[in-house]
Amino acid sequence: MTRKDTLTNVRKILVKVGSAVLTGEDGLDLNIIEQLVDDITTLRERDYQIVLVSSGAIASGKHRLGIPGKLKSIPQKQAAAAVGQGRLMRVYSNAFGKHGLFVGQVLLTMSDITDRKRFLNIRNTLFTLLEWGVITIINENDTVAVDEIKFGDNDHLAAMVANLIEAHLVINLTSTEGLYDQNPAESKKAKLIPLVTEITPEIEASATDEGTPVGMGGMKSKVLAAKKVTAFGIPYIIAPGRRQGVLQEIMDGKETGTLFLPMSEHLNSRKYWIAFTLRARGRLFLDEGATAALIADGKSLLPSGVTQVEGDFVSGDPVSCVDPAGNPIAKGLVNYSAEEIRKIMGLKTGKIEQVLGYKDYDEVIHRDNLAVMIQPDGKSKT
Ligand code: GLU
Repeated sequence: MTRKDTLTNVRKILVKVGSAVLTGEDGLDLNIIEQLVDDITTLRERDYQIVLVSSGAIASGKHRLGIPGKLKSIPQKQAAAAVGQGRLMRVYSNAFGKHGLFVGQVLLTMSDITDRKRFLNIRNTLFTLLEWGVITIINENDTVAVDEIKFGDNDHLAAMVANLIEAHLVINLTSTEGLYDQNPAESKKAKLIPLVTEITPEIEASATDEGTPVGMGGMKSKVLAAKKVTAFGIPYIIAPGRRQGVLQEIMDGKETGTLFLPMSEHLNSRKYWIAFTLRARGRLFLDEGATAALIADGKSLLPSGVTQVEGDFVSGDPVSCVDPAGNPIAKGLVNYSAEEIRKIMGLKTGKIEQVLGYKDYDEVIHRDNLAVMIQPDGKSKT
């Protein structure tokens, strides 16, 4: 499949741009931002819909306040973001305004999207902004996000937003050309990888962890994000953000940056949300039969396939399903609490009522609420 084929039906693009692209010695690099805005505007004229995930709040705030060196504490970073986020939006607003376009700001934390109702609400808002032709600019709500509710870095945030807006393509604009087979800062022999058909352990190993002095996520977090996004059936491109017209180049089918092809067996939106947004509250150990039924046949999980229950959770909670060796294979929302499953595990469905005195469901986890992370060929989606 050529790049052109992969990109033919793309209309809705999520562009993520990192702090290392947007900021220079003098804080926000206005020329680069104008250049990016021109590029986005041209794509819009070509009938593409664009949503932007932009970093740069902390770096910009730090520069505005004239704080030398690194920001040490989390409150300092959060305070810098409070100053920088406003500045960032003003710069974007001015730049898009020159093209007659409005911008809208959406700041998110993880807890905003782990709640299904709020997730759907935000989704409706984002769809409305798209319908109105507003350029939505999304960032983590850095000033209020503490560890437990943090996306961590904007690569991860963008992977979650890809689901919120049901993007057709994610383009991650970075300060490098793309993914190299080894760290280009360390080896002159490093070669750019133009196409990744599958994220193998070797591909993961070629991505080093280091972020830039201003950005949070290094190449590793970009590859992890690519893994999630491609598991949702969306192609992912890591591309050089400072190159003029880079977005148009990509949509013209030029071999720019690294393209990660989508997985053929992918998760739907709700299952993607279960898999990557929710934190498991416990673990269910499955026997061989149930493991195979989930992976190969897409079956629901019945009490008979559960051998052990770990954790304390209630009905509706997300739990991880693991094979007999403890390898995670799926995540799903349980119909019964940990206490109830301990009583009915190993039993035939017909026995549930006899043991519990009631039977609200046949399944421990219904297949519609079960995101299987292993493809039938044994490859992992995470
Ligand atoms: N949200 C952060 C900011 O706007 C950036 C996070 C990241 O670099 O991934 O400064």
